[in-house]
Amino acid sequence: MKFLKIFLLFILGSTFLFSSVTLLKKVELQKGELRLEFDRSYDKKQIRHFTLKNPYREVFDIKNTHLANSKVGKNLKSSHCRSLRVAQYKKNVVRVVIETGRSYACTPYKPLFAYRSYHIPLPKFTIDNTKKYSKKRYKKTKKVKKTERKSKKEQAYLVDTNKAKSFKYRKNELIVIDAGHGGHDTGAISGGKREKDLVLQIAKRLEKQLKRRGYSVYMTRKKDRFLKLPQRTRIADQKDAKVFISIHANSVPKRSRNRVHGVETFFLQTTRNAKSQRIAARENRAVLKGAGSKLSKRVIIDSVLNGPKIVQSNKLAIDVQRRIMTNLHSRYKGVRDGGVRHAPFWVLVGASRPSILVEVGYISHPLERKRLFTPQYQKLIAKGIAEGIDSYLINRRKEIDF
Ligand SMILES: [Zn+2]
Repeated sequence: MKFLKIFLLFILGSTFLFSSVTLLKKVELQKGELRLEFDRSYDKKQIRHFTLKNPYREVFDIKNTHLANSKVGKNLKSSHCRSLRVAQYKKNVVRVVIETGRSYACTPYKPLFAYRSYHIPLPKFTIDNTKKYSKKRYKKTKKVKKTERKSKKEQAYLVDTNKAKSFKYRKNELIVIDAGHGGHDTGAISGGKREKDLVLQIAKRLEKQLKRRGYSVYMTRKKDRFLKLPQRTRIADQKDAKVFISIHANSVPKRSRNRVHGVETFFLQTTRNAKSQRIAARENRAVLKGAGSKLSKRVIIDSVLNGPKIVQSNKLAIDVQRRIMTNLHSRYKGVRDGGVRHAPFWVLVGASRPSILVEVGYISHPLERKRLFTPQYQKLIAKGIAEGIDSYLINRRKEIDF
């Protein structure tokens, strides 16, 4: 079974995923240059070159490109720069960073007759890499050491400035909150309570929590109105949101309503461009007709269409689920942790970013329903989701750290 999976993955992967994407095959240092080699002739427009300060870096974002394998661009060292980094920055963007700490005239070029190459000159000056800290970092370390002796008040001030810093950072990070259902679509109904009302209340609390932390927030709906699926994800795509969170509540038929309860978080496998969507639709159909367990089919579809994003969605889901549970358990007994799961047939949803769906509880369960409609319980859920998003994004920043 495992072999079959890998095989199918390979076939689908090579046919659909890589056919339209440029592969970065090699990155090497030669004659004072960083030389990139692609698997085919590329378009110069694919490469965006810009600089970043503190510390000074030359940055190259190469669009519609994948690293050919995990070894590409690893362990590059040069005495002309502090560090050289190459990474799959986004799903289809490879980022190359040359950290020099000082500006220099960097004029990259596509060599004549070498259509698959891109050469980036490194600075002429050399850098003493034996110094462990850059000036700035060194200063910081000294400062931290000093504060160990400083008064509590001063320490609190430092913590505050750190807070202010992350606050500023978060301003540029848009979170889309999607309250499920709305309008004529009530969602689940139980004991006279409607899912659409509950999820809107929680969404609003989450909005508050996130804004308090400094994030930019967009709500797909702020009142009781109906939205189609594409309307929900469109804004996330247009504004390049960092995260898409959909909030729902669950329900089961009468006979099991006293048994089933708890919080579950699903992560979605999604894809933005129409072509992949068509492929997804077709592959969904084709693959699903074949033999094998449901899970393996899902695994194949996901990996082919959106491998890296799925990993991120999964991480986000884990963080969010964990924080919701911690918050709820701090005040309530017996809340079941339903864990993180895969949402199988959401391939076509549309938002091409870490996307999760939180089922905050079962409104069919009498006790859980009661709790769900209290402000305190809702606040704990909202706080949990916000903390989860925050911890995910902080880790994500560290991961990329460019
Ligand atoms: Zn729902």
